[in-house]
Amino acid sequence: MEIKLKCIECDKSTEDGVTCRCKCGGLLDVVLDLDSLRGKVSKELFNSRLGSRKFPYMSGVWRFRELINPLLSEREIVSRPEGNTNLYRHERVGQYVGIKNISLKHEGENPTGSFKDRGMTSGISEAKRLRMNVVACASTGNTAASLAAYASLAGMKSVVFIPEGMIAFGKLSQAMAYGAKVLQIKGNFDDAMSLVQESSHELKMYLLNSINPWRIEGQKSIIFELIQQFDWEPPDWVVVPAGNLGNTSAFGKAFYELAELELIDKVPRIASIQATGADPFYRTWKGNLPGLKAVKNPETIATAIKIGNPVSWKKALRTIKLTNGLVEEVTDQEIMDAKAIVDGSGIGCEPASAASVAGAKKLRDAGVIDKNESVACIITGNILKDPDATINYHLSKLKEISPRFANKPTVIEPTIEAVRKEIS
Ligand SMILES: *Cc1c(COP(=O)(O)O)cnc(C)c1O
Ligand SMILES: [Zn+2]
Repeated sequence: MEIKLKCIECDKSTEDGVTCRCKCGGLLDVVLDLDSLRGKVSKELFNSRLGSRKFPYMSGVWRFRELINPLLSEREIVSRPEGNTNLYRHERVGQYVGIKNISLKHEGENPTGSFKDRGMTSGISEAKRLRMNVVACASTGNTAASLAAYASLAGMKSVVFIPEGMIAFGKLSQAMAYGAKVLQIKGNFDDAMSLVQESSHELKMYLLNSINPWRIEGQKSIIFELIQQFDWEPPDWVVVPAGNLGNTSAFGKAFYELAELELIDKVPRIASIQATGADPFYRTWKGNLPGLKAVKNPETIATAIKIGNPVSWKKALRTIKLTNGLVEEVTDQEIMDAKAIVDGSGIGCEPASAASVAGAKKLRDAGVIDKNESVACIITGNILKDPDATINYHLSKLKEISPRFANKPTVIEPTIEAVRKEIS
């Protein structure tokens, strides 16, 4: 079995498995040998591993190991295990969005509370294969939390670059607690991202942002697992929040490979949803521009997608083209109201995750998605990641947002009369 790391710009393959860019500056793709995989993988094989307690198949990533990293031996796999996240349906969500057949795949159920664990188990395992000791990333929070946990699990040192004062406390506390060296950069995510690229190259740290092609390979498993949960009959749409565009990139690659391997016979349309204040990919796609139109000072309450210069935009654009997909944007008001609906249905998510549901609603309202189509929204992160945003929404304390679904606590005297008055 051969695996190539191939440049998406100049098509050359690289020998050096450690750097994340081609000599020409282009991003790298893991190119699986699909011809040799064709006879080896099947729906039956993957289904037979469902519910397995055997390492590494109890992981929702490594159950698909042939399509993630066929080179890894079992000793090299570092797994919590991750994945096996649930699909939720709720009438209230369906009514709010205006689509009956809508399900939410809750990636916040991963070990550190976001889908980043799927990319990280893959990235850290490859780091182990390459015998790296120090790993690094820039992060709006969840990548840092995930990297810190997986590095400690693997006995590696981790260094995380985060924009000072701009990440949610749940995530910062995780990175510190799991033992990462936390560098707070006086700047935004994009500053942190360029600094980590320069430093990792200079200081020989293995870079584990989604610019690392193995992160993308791991995140493909969101789609593999989703399609398996749909009994290998894909929905019409997959809707995903979009920041640095790793997921959007991974989803297109996953669908391409599933179709090539004849494991599915139709590819869903992917809708990639950005926040209005951090919408470089939307502007670029909408305007059909030749290069990325970066946003200088991205602003949104959804800190996980507060990114002005997304690294993976070219791979993401490939996904949109391949799947006949589209890019949409939603306001913070729409994000937080959608979050209140997801939360109030007992499902719960962090702000960025609700962009998928808000986006599905906007596309339904515009008639782009038909009310009879089937839609899967990706819920990217756990509700506990950012309690400040949730509480301030319900207390009407968010600037420029008037909560449509606020659920404010009441302060009462400690008497039964006071309780009766509130309850009746
Ligand atoms: C990282 C992250 C995103 C953005 O995903 P990209 O792959 O960078 O586009 C969205 N939501 C949450 C919760 C995240 O952690
Ligand atoms: Zn190149």
